[in-house]
Amino acid sequence: MPEPESSSAHILVIEDEAKLARFLETGLTYEGYRVSVVGDGTAGLAAARTQNPDLVLLDWMLPEISGLEVCRQLRLTGNRVPVVLMTASDEVAARAAGLEAGADDYVVKPFSLQELLARIRIYLQHPKGSPHGQLVFMDLTLDPVTREVRRGERQVELTAKEYELLRYLMEHPRQVLTRQQILEHVWGHDFAGDSNIIEVYIRYLRLKIEAPGEKRLIQTVRGVGYVLRD
Ligand code: CA
Repeated sequence: MPEPESSSAHILVIEDEAKLARFLETGLTYEGYRVSVVGDGTAGLAAARTQNPDLVLLDWMLPEISGLEVCRQLRLTGNRVPVVLMTASDEVAARAAGLEAGADDYVVKPFSLQELLARIRIYLQHPKGSPHGQLVFMDLTLDPVTREVRRGERQVELTAKEYELLRYLMEHPRQVLTRQQILEHVWGHDFAGDSNIIEVYIRYLRLKIEAPGEKRLIQTVRGVGYVLRD
């Protein structure tokens, strides 16, 4: 089912200009979104990774590290959250640089709240990891259309459940997923069996995607769950 214009979608605003940040926070909150605001690139990158927002509204010129670099870093680690860049320049070169860094779209300052809302809605209608995009983490890729999984050049054959488990992990890179979350997402709410099944499948998955000599990607967080991390 496509996501409705969810009134509870979470938007992370990374903007150092206090007045604009406040304007965005007020306007977006009024529209029913949950909004969090951070004022520099380093904090913004951290927030994008830990808060798992549905969309990031990212200023280009930021203290610490630039918006472009924040975006690049997110994509490098496989984070596919929709990113809308806010820039003061509408030059073609700037547009190209933004898209190359992995931004989905951008708005040119000064923009109207209406214009911004229209763009935000486009991206919130498509859930993360939309079926057209490959999921990428380090040298691991998963294509949701062909269901093809590769570690580097090596093709990996997975069973249906292993595939669902890996896909769930890859949709939430660097985010610790609890055993309960994994169980509900991959096996469904009504799963009545033994939750040790997760360990069993993680072991299968590791055997297939972490061949001898390859870096470990699936890390165990003892007593909690699992995380995809290099
Ligand atoms: Ca700025």
